[in-house]
Amino acid sequence: MIRNLLCMTAPVRDGFDIPCHELGPASSQLSVALVGGLHGDEINGIFILSRLADFLTKVDAGNYPELRLAKRVLIIPAVNVLGVNQRTRTWPFDRSDINRMFPGSTGGETTQRIAYAVLEATKRAEFRIDIHTAGIDFEELPQVRLYGPSEVERETARWFGLSAIMERSLSPVFTTTLKHSWKVWPGQSFLLRVGQAGTVQLEHCQRVFRALVSFLGRAGVLVGTELAAEDEEICSFDKASGYRVFAKKAGTFVSDRQVGRWVGAGQELGYIYDSFNGNVVESVLSPVAGLLTGIRRHPLLFEGDLILRVNKKG
Ligand SMILES: [Zn+2]
Repeated sequence: MIRNLLCMTAPVRDGFDIPCHELGPASSQLSVALVGGLHGDEINGIFILSRLADFLTKVDAGNYPELRLAKRVLIIPAVNVLGVNQRTRTWPFDRSDINRMFPGSTGGETTQRIAYAVLEATKRAEFRIDIHTAGIDFEELPQVRLYGPSEVERETARWFGLSAIMERSLSPVFTTTLKHSWKVWPGQSFLLRVGQAGTVQLEHCQRVFRALVSFLGRAGVLVGTELAAEDEEICSFDKASGYRVFAKKAGTFVSDRQVGRWVGAGQELGYIYDSFNGNVVESVLSPVAGLLTGIRRHPLLFEGDLILRVNKKG
């Protein structure tokens, strides 16, 4: 069922709604809440969640006789609905970042009211999942991000079957995020980071769609899915395992490498060309042997820009 999480009026235009999907038996407690598009230009997450909503709606309607939704699922594919329309990360009217507005309030500015409605709708779920991407210049391997996780969250993170689980300590600075506001509630929280902003990367999206179906299966929400043995190795990485390469010189950076591949120490991963005469200014080498978890996709490089990140296996 589609309902409106929030209906808002605007000064000199039609009002707008933030729609969400409520699926599974209405009588059961909310089991899984999925949130995408807190940032309007992070299209991978919006695409994944809209496709998941379509799939689960068909499951609910009985189109897949072998599958059944045993518990309730809430999906908000795009929180920043106006940002999606205008292809902006932030809220178009005042350029505020919705993911810096939590826990929000009912009487505040528009984005604070949006934050409040999202938190209210999701905070009591057993499992809460927020999907993001990297920025528009950089591509990240689809990964689970944990911030100051509990032991049980560490275990549950493996249900996605994604090859990388990145653990960070809880930021004392960014306390106004959805993820941070979820922390005080019982239940488990996860952040997925998928590819880069501004585009749909089909392979990443399909990978994460399967990850979410696997998660719902293991959580006992989607009954009847075949829970395949973990087909790829799952690695946990802490912050110290990440080795970053920054541009020593400006130029045009080009690479045909794909994220998610294991690379050797000293392996060539791309080249910086002189932007005018086309000479190779520098070959970019992997600093260590490890997993290529992130790479710059915007070719124009200034000195000091982040080019790539390789994570060393612990
Ligand atoms: Zn984001």
